[in-house]
Amino acid sequence: MSITGISGILEKALAGRWIAGEKIEDALEITERMNLRNTGSIINYLGESITDKKKSNEALEKYMELISAINKKKLKASIAVKPTQIGLSIDWKTASVNYSKIVSHARKKNVFVWMDMEESIYTERSIALYLSGARNGNTGICIQSYLRRSLHDVKSLLEEGSIIRLVKGAYKEDSSSAFPTRAEATANFASIMSLLFKNSERFMVATHDKGLIEKAIKMSKKSEAEISFGMLNGIMNGYAYELAKNHDVYLYLPFGKEWVAYGYRRLKELRNSILIARSLFSKQ
Ligand SMILES: Cc1cc2nc3c(=O)[nH]c(=O)nc-3n(C[C@H](O)[C@H](O)[C@H](O)COP(=O)(O)OP(=O)(O)OC[C@H]3O[C@@H](n4cnc5c(N)ncnc54)[C@H](O)[C@@H]3O)c2cc1C
Repeated sequence: MSITGISGILEKALAGRWIAGEKIEDALEITERMNLRNTGSIINYLGESITDKKKSNEALEKYMELISAINKKKLKASIAVKPTQIGLSIDWKTASVNYSKIVSHARKKNVFVWMDMEESIYTERSIALYLSGARNGNTGICIQSYLRRSLHDVKSLLEEGSIIRLVKGAYKEDSSSAFPTRAEATANFASIMSLLFKNSERFMVATHDKGLIEKAIKMSKKSEAEISFGMLNGIMNGYAYELAKNHDVYLYLPFGKEWVAYGYRRLKELRNSILIARSLFSKQ
């Protein structure tokens, strides 16, 4: 077998740690198990950069089915939708019609809808798409602290009554739009988090960075804000379950066949964290 064949199998096996499986039932079954440990899920149907209307309609149908199933099974679960999965890379109308159908069905079924954030070329339109939908406490948007614009975006989103899920950011970006180092993205995460504690009633701190999580716990003791923690499935589930004994915790749980783009982002982060760990133990 070729090296690429072996690495392909390894990558698929690793992706299996992070992804529930191919079917809705796989994500629901894992959510049931997470719920038993007082932990909710944020279920995402894998798919992005869709340019074919038929495929974006399939994604819409999948989310409608998922929302009904979460409600029927009374699960502690929300959903996460990628803007380019529901039509943003096709045209505005497709995306806004699909998003409004998802949000309105989710409101009826009492399911929370998160809008994921993708590459910065989509940030402006993703925020507009989010704001175009109803915001009655059941929709929220992801904001990436590695983007230079994010502090400003959070301020204006809060004026519109938005709910924020704060992350560091997972895409390759130019230094003109993003901070080039993880340290700067972390510092900006801390600044935005302080702003959220002062100005937001409800938000999610979505990171595996224990320093930031501990900071958030400390700040929450002096705040009325209702905060939750988010982590990606398969990275630090043990820590998430411990945290869930005293806090509101959700694990981001993707399912579906289009695992490659998601798997590669996680693989890149896994490689980075191994490099960081090695550098800590290597002789200076
Ligand atoms: C709930 C949730 C939703 C998200 N939604 C989005 C989104 O919509 N858009 C977006 O751009 N990004 C999203 N992300 C990803 C996020 O932007 C980061 O890329 C990812 O969370 C890693 O950053 P970190 O904050 O954990 O900090 P880092 O500094 O990258 O990592 C902190 C520590 O976590 C551990 N770690 C992190 N990743 C891995 C890994 N793959 N394998 C093993 N250990 C690891 C390591 O110990 C590392 O030192 C989301 C993340 C979460 C938790």
